[in-house]
Amino acid sequence: MGITPHKEGITIVFDCQFEVQLRDSRLSSILAAFSELLSQLLRDFIQKVLVGYGEYAMTLKKKPFACSCCGNAEEFTWKTKHGKETKILTVYRWVVLQQLQVLCKKCGHKFNITRRLLGIEPNKRIPAETYRKLGLLGCLTTYRVAEKIGGMFGWAVDKMTVWSAVQKTASEIEFKLDGNELPYGEADGTGVGITGIAKRGKELKVFVQYKKGGGVRVAGLDIGNYNGAWDNLFKKSIEVFKGFRKQFLLVTDGDTSIPDSLKGKVKIIIQRCLWHMPYQARYVLWQDDVKRKSSEWLYVVSELMEICAIRPFVDCKKTIEAMIESKRKRLEKVIAHCSRKGYKHTVAYLENAQPDMFTAIEKRFNGKTTSKVERLMRTVNMRANVSKWSEAGVLNVTKIRLAYYYNGFDA
Ligand SMILES: [Zn+2]
Repeated sequence: MGITPHKEGITIVFDCQFEVQLRDSRLSSILAAFSELLSQLLRDFIQKVLVGYGEYAMTLKKKPFACSCCGNAEEFTWKTKHGKETKILTVYRWVVLQQLQVLCKKCGHKFNITRRLLGIEPNKRIPAETYRKLGLLGCLTTYRVAEKIGGMFGWAVDKMTVWSAVQKTASEIEFKLDGNELPYGEADGTGVGITGIAKRGKELKVFVQYKKGGGVRVAGLDIGNYNGAWDNLFKKSIEVFKGFRKQFLLVTDGDTSIPDSLKGKVKIIIQRCLWHMPYQARYVLWQDDVKRKSSEWLYVVSELMEICAIRPFVDCKKTIEAMIESKRKRLEKVIAHCSRKGYKHTVAYLENAQPDMFTAIEKRFNGKTTSKVERLMRTVNMRANVSKWSEAGVLNVTKIRLAYYYNGFDA
């Protein structure tokens, strides 16, 4: 092995001797032997680069490390290049390295430079670049599958390691509104199973913001009871809400705790999510004992479908006004009909939605009748619905998943 220092860095010639017994020359046998080689090679390679680079660094006037006691970054002597063992997790496997230690000539302080040379946090056994990769893996698939996939490619990383990598990675991710994107968003929740809670469990709450270039980004995420607990999620974005020149338009599915948690803090325009309404109507009709697909049921649902369908990109003010007027009249007819028939739940539901149904179109925002958050919820559910969780567990896995799919997080 030879090491040649240059002005910028070093070149390493790495010779290795390796002994392995093979019974045959089948590809699977060769790859199994290679995986044995890899684990030895990885350790030796890292160690040799460290020593080689350490020696090069010691020839520099200003070292790439400094004494933590006195700040000296120039005068050191070697204590050892093969000191006490230390463990570090790489994405391939755990690697045991021997510490490189120097002595500060100014103050006599001895310290290890292994992690400084590696560019990883002091005292940490799992570097950020490793746990972020494992964290991403653990949010894309189940912990069991993550372990299995790793095993197939010769890694030795178990389920628990992936799990803890997810918790750690998630703790570094934060969502809030972006003042440079659009003052337009959607808020919605989806149920997830929580260990120890029967039936619907808890609700994951998601707040998305529309982007100028199309698509959405996640601006808030939390978990809590149904109908409530949105305060914490919006808290970090309050200042950004205030910074928009236009009032923020928030589309919701009718959960009144969403606007309630912003009341008194910021002024926003609420628009009822028209995409959700015909679906929610089926539920209230069921509560009112209206038989599914009966003529009564079909009348209410089909009327609502038409009332809620907004043709996008109509930009004539007069046309918009006439359109809304006609939809309002139609809705009133449906409400009057339901009222005559005694469909109490349906009437209450529609009357409650009525004031917020056309605010967006009236303000000449383009009427979006499909829900972007709905698509995002499918991304959440694909991972969240495969098991029962702790609240923090499902929140963390969803955080990374959404950051990856929507906010440009990568590892
Ligand atoms: Zn010192």
